[in-house]
Amino acid sequence: MQAVTFEQVSKSWGSVVALGATDLAIPAHQFTVLLGPSGCGKTTTLRLIAGLEAPTSGQIQIFGRDVTHTHASARGVSMVFQSYALFPHLSVAENIVFGLRVRKLPQAVIDQKLKHVIDLLGLRQQIDRKPAQLSGGQQQRVALARALVADSQLCLMDEPLSNLDAQLRQEMRQELRALQQTLNLSVVYVTHDQIEAMSMADQVVLLNAGRVEQVAKPVDLYQRPASLFAAKFIGQTPMNIWPLDGHHLQSSTLRVQPPAGAKWLGVRPEALLLNATADQVFEGRIEKIEYTGADALVTLTSQGLSLIARIAGEAMTGLLGSSNASIGVGWASSAQHWFDEHGA
Ligand code: ATP
Repeated sequence: MQAVTFEQVSKSWGSVVALGATDLAIPAHQFTVLLGPSGCGKTTTLRLIAGLEAPTSGQIQIFGRDVTHTHASARGVSMVFQSYALFPHLSVAENIVFGLRVRKLPQAVIDQKLKHVIDLLGLRQQIDRKPAQLSGGQQQRVALARALVADSQLCLMDEPLSNLDAQLRQEMRQELRALQQTLNLSVVYVTHDQIEAMSMADQVVLLNAGRVEQVAKPVDLYQRPASLFAAKFIGQTPMNIWPLDGHHLQSSTLRVQPPAGAKWLGVRPEALLLNATADQVFEGRIEKIEYTGADALVTLTSQGLSLIARIAGEAMTGLLGSSNASIGVGWASSAQHWFDEHGA
């Protein structure tokens, strides 16, 4: 069962194409993350699902029902925004049940739902406070509680953690993920933060300039990027990518065997090995070492190639201060990624 299906859905504003004609399937009861750089169309996609924007063309289904022309309030969807969008003059409890009151649910039902969600999100101490008297994390929990209390089949979240500090963001990531699993929710979550995407998602939809680049599980997105864009976008330090055309790589001592049609070779920084035996080895010169504690980024050059290796911190200790030194650099054949002239 799909929570959301796009059939050739597009959205333009005048000449700005926010989303080109797109087919998309978002599975029910999974955590799906829309990931991509600023302006790629993530928020537009989410707002199209919510019914806050009408598509320029195409059909949108939610749980198999055509909702293309259905008003946002009748789509059975709840939404959590980056800004939390809480009413400042209402208490935590009043904020959470606001939508239930609008729907004129019986008081007993409202009370029971409120109690459940307040316990779930640990907000009991705060129920009488106003949003201004809460920390950012607590405000985010209230926004979440308000979305959950609606019992909608589908929960949409637009960068809900981006206003929190790093520590809290990490805690909330785990909490959100646990909630989604416990409640068996279908979540569509927008972020430009790949760590968030990789750590939370069942499925990542990677967007680029209004197009879907790749739909994959985090591990597959990392290990089998379908395009140069995906390869460069995913990874803490960008993948090393070299053009093969008339390049030193083929004339050097490397035993690189590009498959037919390959125009680019990619190797992740963490797959580069120093001073080790590997399938592909050549001499490089250390240009720069950036030591961060847990690991170090080593910038190397060899025969006009520039590359970056990410090495475990301990392994670096012997190399510190050895800028300009010559060193063996290599990688396993299995760590090679090939891309054709179209970047695929
Ligand atoms: P960000 O991460 O910066 O929020 P995003 O991936 O969510 O970006 P969108 O907000 O979906 O991107 O925007 C996609 C494109 O559509 C951008 O070029 C944006 O400028 C444009 N756009 C979005 N909303 C409108 C609008 N109401 N009118 C005109 N252009 C818009």
